[in-house]
Amino acid sequence: MGIVERMRLDGKKGFVTGAARGIGKCTARAFAEAGADVAIVDMDLETAEQTAAEIAAATGRKVIALKCDVTSEEEVKAMVEAVVEGLGGLDFCHANAGICINAPADEMTYAQWKKNIDVNLNSVFLTDTIAGKYMLANGGGSIINTASMSAHIVNVPQPQCAYNASKAGVIQLTKSLAIEWAKRGVRVNSISPGYIGTDLTLSSPTLQPLIEKWNAMAPTGRLGKPEELESICVYLAGDTSTFTTGADFTIDGAFTCF
Ligand code: NAD
Repeated sequence: MGIVERMRLDGKKGFVTGAARGIGKCTARAFAEAGADVAIVDMDLETAEQTAAEIAAATGRKVIALKCDVTSEEEVKAMVEAVVEGLGGLDFCHANAGICINAPADEMTYAQWKKNIDVNLNSVFLTDTIAGKYMLANGGGSIINTASMSAHIVNVPQPQCAYNASKAGVIQLTKSLAIEWAKRGVRVNSISPGYIGTDLTLSSPTLQPLIEKWNAMAPTGRLGKPEELESICVYLAGDTSTFTTGADFTIDGAFTCF
């Protein structure tokens, strides 16, 4: 079997959080295109249902939508159970839901700080450990976390200390779980995208006006597209990446190279 065939995800089952739109929608569609059955997990159920229907129609795979606030332990537990029941198992997941709160540190409220850490980092602990426990007990699996280039650099000019700290935490959590589970069949990796054109950037009243400045700083002169993150996630979810664990993949058009 050739490499393209070996990279396929036929027979695998997985879920993506924050998959109603943006990066998560794109990786969920890529997983389904590669042959997997997929759950679209989001707090926005209506959009998640539309996304699931769209991907199912385009790929012919089983695609279900599940409502879940990834900051709630009870909801994440119920979601993982629903994935296992709805799809018949769990081989991979992409913990991707996230938000960005922009505020100068000396004006940021403690509530804003906690919210950003909760949605971006505590949720990844919940998703990874609850999905991971199932995978550890059921033949292994692959976990992909969305970090950010903000884990590696401090973005300018916008002030976003909580976001940056949360994403740095995602990478260290990824590496810690990878080491704990390396001999037990569960791999854990992260992706660190640069600026990507999604609602998070294009529709944000604070971030959208900065796009021209970011592009002027970017070696490529442009934002990335969600589609440019798909193949790495398909690789990580599948069986050609069995020696890849504890790795972070920076996909930023060389933004963090200087
Ligand atoms: P987006 O805003 O387009 O989509 C995020 C999705 O997550 C939405 O559907 C939203 O409903 C969902 N969500 C938010 N909070 C949730 C919660 N508590 N529970 C469940 N679902 C929730 O964002 P995006 O650009 O696609 O970002 C996806 C991930 O990629 C985030 O972790 C983000 O930090 C990261 N990221 C984005 C960029 C970028 O430039 N867009 C760059 C690097 C990293």
